[in-house]
Amino acid sequence: MRNTLEDSRFSNTPASSGGARPELLAGWGATLRQRLVGFFAERGEPAYRARQVEQWVWKRAARSFEEMTNLPAPLRPALAEAFSLTPLEPDYVARSRDGTIKHLWRLEDGERVESVLIPTRERLTLCLSSQAGCALACRFCATGYFGFRRQLRAAEIVAQYRDSLRVAREELGRPISNVVYMGMGEPLANLDGVIGSLAALHGGFGLGARRITVSTVGLVPGILELARRPEPFELAVSLHAPAHELRLELMPIEKRYPLPELFEALRTYQGYKNRRISLEYTLIRGVNDAPALAEALADLAHGLICFVNLIPFNPIPARPEWGPSPPAAIERFSAGLTARGVGNAVRRPRGRDIAAACGQLRLSTEG
Ligand code: SAH
Repeated sequence: MRNTLEDSRFSNTPASSGGARPELLAGWGATLRQRLVGFFAERGEPAYRARQVEQWVWKRAARSFEEMTNLPAPLRPALAEAFSLTPLEPDYVARSRDGTIKHLWRLEDGERVESVLIPTRERLTLCLSSQAGCALACRFCATGYFGFRRQLRAAEIVAQYRDSLRVAREELGRPISNVVYMGMGEPLANLDGVIGSLAALHGGFGLGARRITVSTVGLVPGILELARRPEPFELAVSLHAPAHELRLELMPIEKRYPLPELFEALRTYQGYKNRRISLEYTLIRGVNDAPALAEALADLAHGLICFVNLIPFNPIPARPEWGPSPPAAIERFSAGLTARGVGNAVRRPRGRDIAAACGQLRLSTEG
């Protein structure tokens, strides 16, 4: 059986625990809350103090215990010794002319990951990273060329949200409305970290499951695991080619989970969730934009309730010979899908001037 969770070739070893202190951002499991209640009881403090901390973490997006000004001052350093708020240091912030804000965060061990705030009129979307680097080596993706560094812990994923929420409130005066796992890394190759972070974003910060999209190259065991979860998180699948040979050239993962197996998993997912699935298709000039491929894509998706996002390729230095498909080719591809009843939209790249667009993360800082 290939479709089992034991299949862990792409689930790299979990990151270290981040020191002995429990991380509050990893969620309020019963154990953690008990420890917090215990912490206050030992010091003769009432149990409602635990609730106060909780409010600071989830409602106020506190980055330090010193901020928790309704707690007795001597308790704040004691809390900091007993628990961690998973500090992230912003190494670099870039603001695009189109309003996009990219952060490069330094983690406690010096690893660096990026997240991007993308405002539109109706939405403020946060694109966050699930791994430092990536092992999947998609040929069109900048992160793929850096290789895999390590997994992010759940709290490190959630900390990107917390710190971005602060920026959103302070600079943009609005909350984050949507989260997409489309930054660095492959979310479903870090199931522990990602599922823990989904629980905290949904249960802790109160973000609706339908406002959270997990994007994957198509790791079948992870898709099935997500399918079994009760919350209706959104799923996006990076497809980029509707035929085996071509997809194999672009995405080595096609060898491990070829299209028929991937689509079987997507049908299973849809059976559980009854939700539309997004298919991501990056259009590279002369590589995967032929009109016949739009037809093949429509055939492949037959029977699946899906929506195709067409993304003009964002150039990366590792592939100087590749460029985005010209507008006419994109139009033709889109029309080909529409003619066959497949809903689709062309996505405008955002934050291109600050290398914040899809697949470009980590370029400007280490390229
Ligand atoms: N590993 C996950 C999430 C990260 S990539 C995944 O592959 O889905 C987020 C999206 O950006 C994916 O759809 C990916 O295929 C796309 N992408 C990567 N590099 C790109 C590039 N250079 N231009 C346009 N889209 C790109």
